[in-house]
Amino acid sequence: MLPLVALVGRPNVGKSTLFNALTRSRDALVHDQPGVTRDRHYGVCRPEGQRSFAIVDTGGIAGEDEGLAGATAKQARAAAEEADLVLFIVDGREGASALDDDILAWLRKTARPTLLVVNKTDGLEVQAALNDFARYGFNDVVAVSSAHRQGIDTLIEQVLKKL
Ligand code: GDP
Ligand code: MG
Repeated sequence: MLPLVALVGRPNVGKSTLFNALTRSRDALVHDQPGVTRDRHYGVCRPEGQRSFAIVDTGGIAGEDEGLAGATAKQARAAAEEADLVLFIVDGREGASALDDDILAWLRKTARPTLLVVNKTDGLEVQAALNDFARYGFNDVVAVSSAHRQGIDTLIEQVLKKL
């Protein structure tokens, strides 16, 4: 079985865009897990000449009216709990938000190894974007632009180091 990496974060930070960037190869197995939920999508990242790993794109953790206790959140938690590595995705343009704080708090309870991924750093002063998340205290932080495929190879390298 392939190691499993979960993409976790609030809605709109770019989880699905990152999922697509990581699984873009034509033979990537991307499908909805039947009978589970529409919000959990599994795929495989097959980096050339390196180990493959499975990815699960969880839905946004807080739906408009659901909050952290809602069904989508439960699915995201379940995905995080079964993962070998969690990618905590945040939005470098918007900076850290209260919802990011909440997600991180429960993520810490799962005690899964976690990498902080700051997305949407295209056209940004990257160090400034990262500084906004410094208080989260991650040793492992990767800046990416999923939409422009920037930093994706570095991210894959960091993921493989942790698996
Ligand atoms: P999700 O809700 O976390 O799955 O987020 P999506 O992948 O659906 O992306 C939300 C929005 O952010 C979409 O309009 C994307 O086009 C945009 N987006 C995602 N990644 C990037 C990025 O790297 N840079 C920029 N500028 N926009 C992005
Ligand atoms: Mg999505």
